[in-house]
Amino acid sequence: MRILMATSEFHPYSKTGGLADMVAALTKTLAQKGHRVGVVTPLYRGIREKFPELRPFDWQMTLPLGGSHVSARIWIVEPVAGMTIYFVDQPGFFDRPGIYNENGADYADNAARFIFFSKAAIHLARYLPWGPQVMHVHDWQTGLVPMLVQQQRLAEGWGKATPVMLTIHNLAYQGIFAADAFALANLPASWFNPGTAEFHGALNMLKAGIATADVITTVSPRYAREIMTEEFGCGLDGLLRHRADVVHGVLNGVDYEEWNTTTNPHLKFHYRADQLAGKTRNKTALQKELGLPVNPRVPLFGSVTRLAEQKGVDLLVPALEEMLGRPMQFVLLGSGDGHYERSLRSLARRHPDKVAIRIGYDQGLSHRIEAACDFFLMPSRFEPCGLNQMYSLRYGTIPIVRATGGLDDSVVDPSENQQEATGIKFTEYSAAALAHAMRKALALYATKPALRAFRERGMKADFSWETTANRYLQLYGTVMK
Ligand code: ADP
Repeated sequence: MRILMATSEFHPYSKTGGLADMVAALTKTLAQKGHRVGVVTPLYRGIREKFPELRPFDWQMTLPLGGSHVSARIWIVEPVAGMTIYFVDQPGFFDRPGIYNENGADYADNAARFIFFSKAAIHLARYLPWGPQVMHVHDWQTGLVPMLVQQQRLAEGWGKATPVMLTIHNLAYQGIFAADAFALANLPASWFNPGTAEFHGALNMLKAGIATADVITTVSPRYAREIMTEEFGCGLDGLLRHRADVVHGVLNGVDYEEWNTTTNPHLKFHYRADQLAGKTRNKTALQKELGLPVNPRVPLFGSVTRLAEQKGVDLLVPALEEMLGRPMQFVLLGSGDGHYERSLRSLARRHPDKVAIRIGYDQGLSHRIEAACDFFLMPSRFEPCGLNQMYSLRYGTIPIVRATGGLDDSVVDPSENQQEATGIKFTEYSAAALAHAMRKALALYATKPALRAFRERGMKADFSWETTANRYLQLYGTVMK
C-alpha cells in the first residue's frame, strides 16, 4: 500500500508527547513491511541544523490561505528504505522557538499555521508522483484535512481523491478558534455548521475531522469506548456515538529498537529479565546523578510526565506526602504547568533525602529513570493510550496506574489475573487510592519472589508494533474500498 501521513510531531525531529513516538514507530514498521510511506511534518526551528542529511526537494507550492497566498518549500529525508519524510518549510509559521506555544501561551496564529500545514499535506497527497492511496492524519492540527480533500474532490477535479483516516491521540485538545478562522480554509461558508466544524459558535478543527473522516481511530480500545461517554467525551461524545460504526480503538505499540534494556545507548548498564544486576546498578547511578542517598535496597518510585491536569499530578503530591514517612524514594522528570512545578519543587525541598525533581525535557534521563526505578507512577485522570507504562513493563519497572484508557488495556492487576499480573491498578481518582496502591507496591517489594515474577512477566509482555501496524493496514484496506 501507499500511505501518506500528516503529523505535527515526528520523533526524533519534533516531539511534545506520545503522538511523535506513535507516528514514527508506525511509519517505520509499515515501511519495513514493504509499504510505501510518506510523512508530511513541519520544518520547525533547529531541525535542519540537527539533521544535516535533510536535502531540498525540487518542489515549490503556493497555496491560498483565506485572503492571501502562502508559499512553502519542501525538504526531504529517507531514514529507512521505502519511507520519505517531507518537511514543510514555511519559516513565517514554523521557524519559532516552540511547536505550539511559547512561554506558556499558545501562538495566536495556530489556526493559520496548521490549516496551511494541512493544505500542504493535501497538495503532496494529490501531486506526489508515487500517488498515495490513503491519507492518515493525526489530531486537531490536521482535523480539516477530510473536508479540504472533499472540496478538492467536488469542486477542484480531484476525482481519485484519497480516503482519509483520522487518529485521535487526545480528545482533550480540539483546536478551537474564533469562527472567522474558518475563512482560512477557503471552504464554502455553508460547510461551517454544527454538523461539521462549528462548535458552540467557534471553529473546532478536531470536530470537523471527526464529522467527516472516512475512518477514525483512537489509541486504545478502552479510550474508544470512553470518548463516547459524557464523562470523557469533551463535548464531542454525541458526535462520536453518531460515528461509532467508523470509530476503532487500536492500542499503540512500543518501538523496542529504541526502548530496550539490552542495547540502549542511554543506559550505563544493560540488563535482561534473567540478569537484573544491571538494573540495580542503574538505580544507584541515578540516585547519585540526582543527589539522593545511594541505596540499592530502598524502593524507588518514578515518573516522567507532562505536568498537566490530565496526568494526575494533583494526586501525586498529597499521596507522596502520606507515603514519604516510609523508607522509599521518588524521582520525577517533567515539564508543564507552573503551579505543578512549584508544588513538586516544594515537596523536594521538604524531603531532600527522598525526593528528586527535574523540571525539563530530557530524553536520556527519561530512559535512565525508566531503567532505574522499581515502580512507575501514572495516576492519570484519563489516558488515551499512555506509552510510559509499556516502556516500564519492558524495563522491569512495575507500573502503578489508574484504570483508565490505554493504562487499563495494557497493565494486568492481580485482582484481574493473579498468574498474569504485571502491575498495580487503582480506580478512584483520589490521593488516598493512589497511596493505597503505593502501599501495595511496598508490600510487593518486600516479597522478593512475587516482585521477580511481576518483573519477568512485564519484561516479556509484547506490545511490538507488528500487531498494531497490521491492524492499521487492515483499516486502510477497508477504507480504500
Ligand atoms: P502524552 O502524549 O499524553 O504526553 P504518553 O505517555 O503517550 O503521554 O507519551 C509521553 C512521551 O513523552 C513518552 O515517550 C515520555 O517518555 C515522553 N516525555 C514526557 N515528558 C517528558 C520529559 N519531561 N522528558 C522526556 N520525555 C518526556
